[in-house]
Amino acid sequence: MLKTAIAPAGDNSMAAFDVERLREDFPILSRTVNGKPLVYLDNGASAQKPRQVIEAMTACYEGYYSNVHRGVHTLSQESTEAFEKGREKVASFINAASPDEVVFTRGTTEAINLVAGTFGPAFMREGDEVILSVMEHHSNIIPWQLLRDRLGIVIKVVPIDDAGNFDLEAYKGLLGERTKLVALTHISNALGTIVPVEEVIRLAHSVGAKVLLDGAQAAPHAGIDMQALGVDFYAFSGHKLYGPTGIGVLYGRQEILAELPPYQGGGEMISRVTFEKSTYKAPPHRFEAGTPAIAEVIGLGAAVDYVSAIGVEAIQAHEDGLLAYATELLSDIEGLTIHGQAREKVSILSFTMAGCHAHDIGTVLDQSGIAVRAGHHCAQPLMDRLGVPATARAAFGLYNTRAEVDALAAACHKVKDFFG
Ligand code: PMP
Repeated sequence: MLKTAIAPAGDNSMAAFDVERLREDFPILSRTVNGKPLVYLDNGASAQKPRQVIEAMTACYEGYYSNVHRGVHTLSQESTEAFEKGREKVASFINAASPDEVVFTRGTTEAINLVAGTFGPAFMREGDEVILSVMEHHSNIIPWQLLRDRLGIVIKVVPIDDAGNFDLEAYKGLLGERTKLVALTHISNALGTIVPVEEVIRLAHSVGAKVLLDGAQAAPHAGIDMQALGVDFYAFSGHKLYGPTGIGVLYGRQEILAELPPYQGGGEMISRVTFEKSTYKAPPHRFEAGTPAIAEVIGLGAAVDYVSAIGVEAIQAHEDGLLAYATELLSDIEGLTIHGQAREKVSILSFTMAGCHAHDIGTVLDQSGIAVRAGHHCAQPLMDRLGVPATARAAFGLYNTRAEVDALAAACHKVKDFFG
C-alpha cells in the first residue's frame, strides 16, 4: 500500500467495500471468454469502465455536445461548463492548488513528451543531466533520448536491487549540479514497486533540480496529492483510472508552467495572432492546442468521482489483500518466479514459469477466460535487468475478487502441467 501519498481530504469512502456490488457497475464483467467468466487482470494496461463513466459520456453526446470555449450558443456554453468542471474534479482528485495546474493531454505519454518538448529546450543545455530509473516505461525513456539527440543532454539511470527496490543511495550519488530534471516512475508498471518519491523530490530540490513523476500506475492504485508531494510535474492517463482512452493529465506547478513555452501551436492556445507575431494564453490553455477531447474529459471527471466515492484507501486495501493472496498462491507453484518483491509495492504481480515463454502463459490463461498481459511491458531495459525477455503480469483492480485469484492460480497450475 502506498504510504507516501495521502488521499485528498474529504474523501467520502463507502462504509464497506462491497466488491460484488461494485462489479455490477462494470457491464463488461458479465461477459464470458472462451466459455468461461471473464477474469480481467490486465488492469495495468487499461482498466474497464463503470456505467457511470459510459453514461456521462453518452449524456454529453446525446444531450449537450458541442465544441468548447469558442461558442456563444447554449450547447457550447453547456459543453464548456462540463469540460471545465472535469478539470476542477481532476484538480480536486489530485489536490492541485488550482485547476489551472491541470493540463489535458492524450495520456501519460503525451504529458511526458510535453515536458521534454517545453522544459527541455527552455531549461536544459548540452551536458545537463536528466535522471531516470531502470524501471521506466518506454514513455519515460524515449522522450529523453530524443531530447539527448537534439540538445546533447546526458541521461543517468538509477538501478534497483534484486527485489525491485529503488536504489536510493545510488540515486543520491547521481544527483549533482548538472541535474536539471529527475523523471521517474512513481510506481513501476512491471514490478509494482513504489518509488520513495518524497525523499526523491526532497533530494532533487536540494540540488535545484525539478521532478517529473510518471503516475500512470499510481493514479489508479494510490491517493496522489500534488501539494503534499510538492512535485513539479506529474503525468497520468485516464484509461487506467477507469476512465476513457485518449485523455490524460499533466499536472504542473503554476509558477513552472507559467515559464514554459507552448508545446504545440494551433487554435485554443493563443491570445492574439498576426503574421508578424502571436501571443499565447496562460496555462493550462497554452498547452492545449486544438479541439480537446471533450467527452473524454467529462468521462474522466466521472471516473474520478467514481473512485473518490468508493474511497482511494478502501480500493488500496482491497487490492493489497488480493496481492497478498495471489503472492501466497503463486509462490506455491513449482517453477514459477515472481519478479518484484519490493518492500513497498502495489497490486501488480509479474511472473515467469520455467520451460515456457510468457506468451504461452498468457495464451493458456486466456483459455480459462483470464486476461493477463504477457510481454516486456514497454520496459525492455528492466527486462534486461531481470534477465528475462518478458513476464506475465496480473494487475488487480478494484473489481477483482479472491475467487478470481483462485482461478488465476488454478490456470497457472495448468500451465505448469502442460509445459513443466
Ligand atoms: N508509464 C507507465 C508506468 C505506464 O504503465 C504506462 C502505460 N502502460 C505509460 C507510462 C504510458 O501510458 P499511456 O499509454 O496511457 O500514455
